[in-house]
Amino acid sequence: MINLNMHYSELKDSYLFYNISEKIKAYRQANPDKELYHLGIGDVSLPLCDAVIKALHSAVDDQSRKETFQGYLPECGAPFFRKAISDFYINKGIDIKPEEVFASSGASNELGDIIDLFDQSSKALIMEPAYPAYIDDSVIAGRKIFHQDTGRDTMFLASPDKSIDADLIYLCSPNNPTGAVYNYEQLKEWVDFANDRGAIILFDAAYEAFIEDDSIPHSIMQIDGAKTCAIEICSLSKTAGFTGTRLGYTIIPSELNRNGMNINSMWVRNRTTKTNGVSYIIQKGGAAVFTDEGQKEIHEILKVYKNNAKVLMKVLDELGIWYCGGKNAPYIWLKCPGNMSGWDFFDYLLNEIQVIGTPGEGFGKCGSGYFRLATFGDSKKTIIAAERIRDLISKKEN
Ligand code: PLP
Repeated sequence: MINLNMHYSELKDSYLFYNISEKIKAYRQANPDKELYHLGIGDVSLPLCDAVIKALHSAVDDQSRKETFQGYLPECGAPFFRKAISDFYINKGIDIKPEEVFASSGASNELGDIIDLFDQSSKALIMEPAYPAYIDDSVIAGRKIFHQDTGRDTMFLASPDKSIDADLIYLCSPNNPTGAVYNYEQLKEWVDFANDRGAIILFDAAYEAFIEDDSIPHSIMQIDGAKTCAIEICSLSKTAGFTGTRLGYTIIPSELNRNGMNINSMWVRNRTTKTNGVSYIIQKGGAAVFTDEGQKEIHEILKVYKNNAKVLMKVLDELGIWYCGGKNAPYIWLKCPGNMSGWDFFDYLLNEIQVIGTPGEGFGKCGSGYFRLATFGDSKKTIIAAERIRDLISKKEN
């Protein structure tokens, strides 16, 4: 009889979004006339920008004509897409060559696939609270996981701990769920730590486009020494509204070697074996994000989300509620008032003012008593939600 990967039985059920949707369903049934204000789900609400739509249409037309039709493309990414990303890095002063760029169907797919490169004995280090996929991917792969806690005292950022014997280090900046961001010095500490011990950093930069402070690196590749210890995983999901369209990219420097093997070449071998690449049409749409027109348009859209963040942060400031994130990230991570648990605060906001957020408990035990607000929603509804939060909490406190 076949033996299954029994590590699947070790996965903890993810009740978070299921519980949230059940609670919303029950509330809707009991209160069908009440409007709900969603600040919970990390999905965008605005459509793809014009430059992308034009490129998608034109790529569809290419596929209708014999002269322009594209069949299989290179598995690691179409040359035009890899060049567009390489130019984007070069314009930021980071020397990344097209061969160091790999197209992906999104960061989630890539995070799951890329750990194929590392032996099962390699131990993962995950900072908590964490994006849940890091843990689940490592559990499925049968890896030992070290959990490193973060909290309010360090603004939910972690520093290397030499006593932790980790090989694969997950870093996410800007962070989901906390919105926390590492500065140059803090990332340099991680790069030195990884190089010293021969570890690899998996740097999740899914939210880099939200960074506005010059003191915050957009890419780990901006840090001296990163090219010998880091892989960067990026996504167009939140940057350019590709959550449903699906496209991302991964940077694997050509200098990244371990055990006498070159990791970039290993990933080429992996991709040429395990995928036939990302659709031509989608890569054409993705390349349009990196044109001048595309960049201008996506930054107009990001401004809307950033404005939502400002509206919410203003109310939290007025109420004196502690939070981090919101400035260089699309998430605001707040301490629940009155020492409520995240789930109690969730119920309170839903029942009293019909505002929906995400309880911190869903991101690991360090999230207990915290709450995530996402800023991807409709701007008018975000304003109403913010006013409702202000009125509710100030009434409670008086
Ligand atoms: N990484 C982080 C930190 C995320 O928050 C998300 C999505 O919410 C992803 C990766 C997955 O992104 P994608 O839509 O590209 O799969």
